[in-house]
This record gives sequence, C-alpha cells and structure tokens, in this order.
Amino acid sequence: MTVAETPVREAGQDFIRDIVRGDLASGRHKSIVTRFPPEPNGYLHIGHAKSICLNFGVADEFGGHCNLRYDDTNPTREAQEYIDAIERDVRWLGFDWGKHLYHASDYFERLYEWAEYLIEAGKAYVDDQTQEEMRLTRGTLTEAGTESPQRNRGIAENLDLFRRMRAGEFPNGARVLRARIDMGSGNINLRDPVLYRILHAEHPRTGKIWCIYPSYDFAHGQSDAIEGITHSLCTLEFEDHRPLYDWFLDNLPVPSHPHQYEFARLNLTYTILSKRVLTELVRGGHVGGWDDPRMPTLAGLRRRGVPAVAIRDFVKRIGVAKANSVVDMGMLEFSIREHLNKTARRRMAVLRPLKVVIENYPEGGREEIEALNHPEDASAGSRRIAFGRELYIEREDFMENPPKKFFRLSPGAEVRLRYAYFITCREVVKNQAGNVIELRCTYDPATKGGNAPDGRKVKATMHWVSAADAVKAEVRLYNPLFLRPDPDAANFAADLNPQSLEVIADARVEPALAEDTSGEPVQFERQGYFCRDADSTPARLVFNRTVGLRDSWAKVAGTN
Ligand code: ATP
Ligand code: MG
Repeated sequence: MTVAETPVREAGQDFIRDIVRGDLASGRHKSIVTRFPPEPNGYLHIGHAKSICLNFGVADEFGGHCNLRYDDTNPTREAQEYIDAIERDVRWLGFDWGKHLYHASDYFERLYEWAEYLIEAGKAYVDDQTQEEMRLTRGTLTEAGTESPQRNRGIAENLDLFRRMRAGEFPNGARVLRARIDMGSGNINLRDPVLYRILHAEHPRTGKIWCIYPSYDFAHGQSDAIEGITHSLCTLEFEDHRPLYDWFLDNLPVPSHPHQYEFARLNLTYTILSKRVLTELVRGGHVGGWDDPRMPTLAGLRRRGVPAVAIRDFVKRIGVAKANSVVDMGMLEFSIREHLNKTARRRMAVLRPLKVVIENYPEGGREEIEALNHPEDASAGSRRIAFGRELYIEREDFMENPPKKFFRLSPGAEVRLRYAYFITCREVVKNQAGNVIELRCTYDPATKGGNAPDGRKVKATMHWVSAADAVKAEVRLYNPLFLRPDPDAANFAADLNPQSLEVIADARVEPALAEDTSGEPVQFERQGYFCRDADSTPARLVFNRTVGLRDSWAKVAGTN
C-alpha cells in the first residue's frame, strides 16, 4: 500500500476523538457536526491545516459532516481573493464540505434579533464611551473593572439607541452595544463585552444593508448553535472565551447548545503561523506573494511541490493535544521526503555545471542509455537518456586537490557516471583567472551500464547530463525564511533570513524535464525533490527545490 492509499487517520487516537466516540456511545449525539471557521482575511497556513484535518477528519471518521463557515464579521479586512484561496486550499488538502457552505453574515438578521432580545431582558445596553474609555475601565487581571455610566440605562432607551445605530444615525465608534454581565468578573471576557460596533463599511456579501456588525465573540458561538454544531473545536486561546459563549447560549433562545473543546495550535520552528505577520510579509514585499514557496501557507507549500498527502501525514504524526508546543520543521520535511521518496520520478539535473570532454569518445558520436524512473518501483518504467562526448557534471563533484576522504572526481581518479560508464580524469583545463572550466577525461567502453567486466570497483557514482541535449533551467533553492527557530512575531523583520532564496540561473537538466508539464514532483538524483514552478514558460524552465534528500534542519538547529 502506498502512502497515497493509506487512510488519512484511523479513528480514535486523541482526546477529541475519545470525546466524540463517548458522545455517540452514550447517545448524547446521534450524528456529528463540526465546522472549520476561517476569517476570509488572508490565506490559510499549515496551522489551519491542522484544524481542517481535525474538523473534516472527525466528521468523516464518525459519519457526520463538517461545515465550511466564513467568520465574515469584519467587512474591512475581507476579500473575495481570500475566499477563493481558502476553498481552493481546503479542496487541495483533500476535504469537501459538499453543500455545507455557510457564512456568519447569513445570520446577521438573527444575531440582530438576539441582540434586541438581550436588551429587552435587561442583559445588554448601549454604551457611549469611547473605545479608549472602555479600555481604561476594563480593569486588570487583579482589579475589577468600573461600570459604565450608561450601564443602567432603561430598556426602552437602549432599544431606541440600538435601532438608531442600525439605522445609521451615528458615526463609526460613537456607540457600542455591550452585554451586561459582570464588570467584577475574574474572567475579563465577561466584563460587559462588546456585542455590536458601528462600522459604515460595505460588506462583500451583505453590501450596504448593515452599518453595525456583530463582534466575533457574539457571532461565533451563535453561528455554531444555528448550525447545530455538536463539537466546536478551537485553539487554546479561546478557552477563556468559553464561559462567555456559554453565557450567550444560556441567555438566548438558541436552537442548540454546542460544546466547545480546545486543542493546542500548531507552532513550527523557523516560521510564524500568524495571518497578521504573513499579511505583512506579503504587503511589505518580503516575499513574492501569498504563494511564495518560502511561506508556510498552503498555497506556498503547494507551489513548492509539497503534496497534500504529506501535510495530512504530518498532521497525523503530530497529533492533537491540550498542551501548546513547537514542532520541529524537520518533522514536516520528514513527511514530505517520505512521500516523495516513494512517488517522485528520478531525473538527472546538474545545478552548477562543469564541462567534461570524453577524449576517447568519437567526435559527433551519441548513444542512448536506459535509465530507471524509480529504482525501487519497477512499474515506474524507464526512459532513454543521451550520452555523448561532452557532458556536464556537478562542479562540487570535482576537486583538484582532494582531501583523503573525497571519493568523487579528481585528477587520475575513476568514477561511475550513473547508468553510463566509468570515466577517469586526465587533465584539468583552467581559464586565465585560474578557475577550472573543463575536465578532459577518458571513458572505458567496456563499462557500459555502469559495471566493469573485470569486477573493479569505483567509490563514487555521479549524476551528469549530455551537454548537447541538456536544457537550461533556473533552479530556486529555499532556505528557512527566518534565522531563528523562534522568530519574534512582534519584530519579525529583524529575524528574516536574507538568504532565504538562492537562485541558480544556469542549471542543466535532462530533456524529459522540459517536456513534462504534469506538475508532478521529481527527484533530481543526489540533489533533492523538485517541481516545476508556475513561472516556467516554453522558453524558460524554472524549478523549485521542495526539500533536500537529507534532514538539513538538524544541522541548522545545531543539534547535529
Ligand atoms: P491567525 O492567528 O493566523 O490570524 P486565526 O485563528 O485568526 O489565525 P482563523 O481564520 O480565525 O485564523 O482560523 C480558522 C480556524 O483555524 C480557527 O478555528 C483557528 O482556531 C484555527 N487555527 C488558526 N491557526 C491555527 C494553528 N496555528 N494551529 C491550529 N489551528 C489553527
Ligand atoms: Mg480568528
């Protein structure tokens, strides 16, 4: 069974799934409904992938369904571009919401009615204080807040003011609607939180209908209740909000009472999983866009050549727990490498070419050699590659004065060219500056296919391309976007790695790579896994290195 055929996750290996299983067994729920609730104000990142795999995964495994719901309560930050990207990315990751696509904005009218319901019950009031005044009177973790002068306004006056807020009579920020809970609560979220604010802004879906918008806190739990969510799964930072969500559910005539469960968010070394920071990276031109292959976004990872199955596998490996932690980037690369090793076709490409002339090979001669597409998978078949008098090898595979343990090419040394022949270096040609520009070699015609009939051995097998046949390509190598394993989100620019992108302008690749427009990842033998970049044109091939062949993170982190 290949990784691609392995079920994403067998049910029941974390505390969330244990809860779900228990609720089904006890009859508390007959079927399971979860949701993934992105705010359409940026592209999804790999942290979101954890939440997507959890929510859609639980629904799949227990025969329920998962809603895709946009938490579109802040019209000034939302855009269609983000909505399109979110849907593309969730589908790409392998999940389908079917007909269950919803928006918090679908519920604006109902939420408004529920706000009036709270006012009529004496549980909400219109506050005239400025944002700054409210901030100052909120209190601290150790001190109670101060009640607003408007807290005891009469119900009729509150209703009138709230309706006039909706009618557009007041400018932005002039008033808010607040819940009337407890300014002395030990939980700051319960100190009369804001339910509605005035915002004269057009909404992508509701247009100009509204000039007041519900707060995230007021919309979120009630949206869950309207949709009959059985298990509302969110990250730990919302744990302190749960008492507020429960207060709303207890004080409103909602159709259901979803239970919220919190799990640890994903943090990864050498990157930052925060939409705010990612937005600034894009806006500030620190990266080429949301899908820059250095970005931890799903669009960036996809463009880099990371298969969706590798991300699902990674999420499965890290599991779902209650305690926050930071996952080593090497774990993600491990999943990528493991999958690509099994599936990627092998090809030959020389990133930094050094010319080799085979002196005893006939001028103008050319032959085709059989090369395997995947040495461990016979079903991948083979291809024919050209061999001739002039070749390119990797510059770093040659040393004029090699140290003892260097087994690759050097003057007088014999090596194997993969699938082809043994060659021996006879002479080193230099330019005036003293740089090596060409190697004169001989080959042993008896070693065709890469083995000597007399049984002699060589210590190195090197990749190569035929100079006459190879195609020029640009190759982009990616290094960590940040210099430190724990970059500072508040001052991320200082931690950016100036060498995160390394462009090789003049690589040479075998022609099969130019012809293949499938987008499938390939292994450049001895170099790593690569994929054709979207910047490629018929005249200019561009490849991204997805990941090297070995774990480079251990070295970066200094733990190796
Ligand atoms: P950010 O902090 O990056 O702005 P967000 O939480 O504001 O992210 P949302 O669009 O609201 O972004 O996120 C949608 C869902 O994804 C939420 O349920 C949230 O808990 C979850 N999520 C966001 N970041 C992570 C993460 N790093 N790990 C796991 N889940 C996450
Ligand atoms: Mg959020």
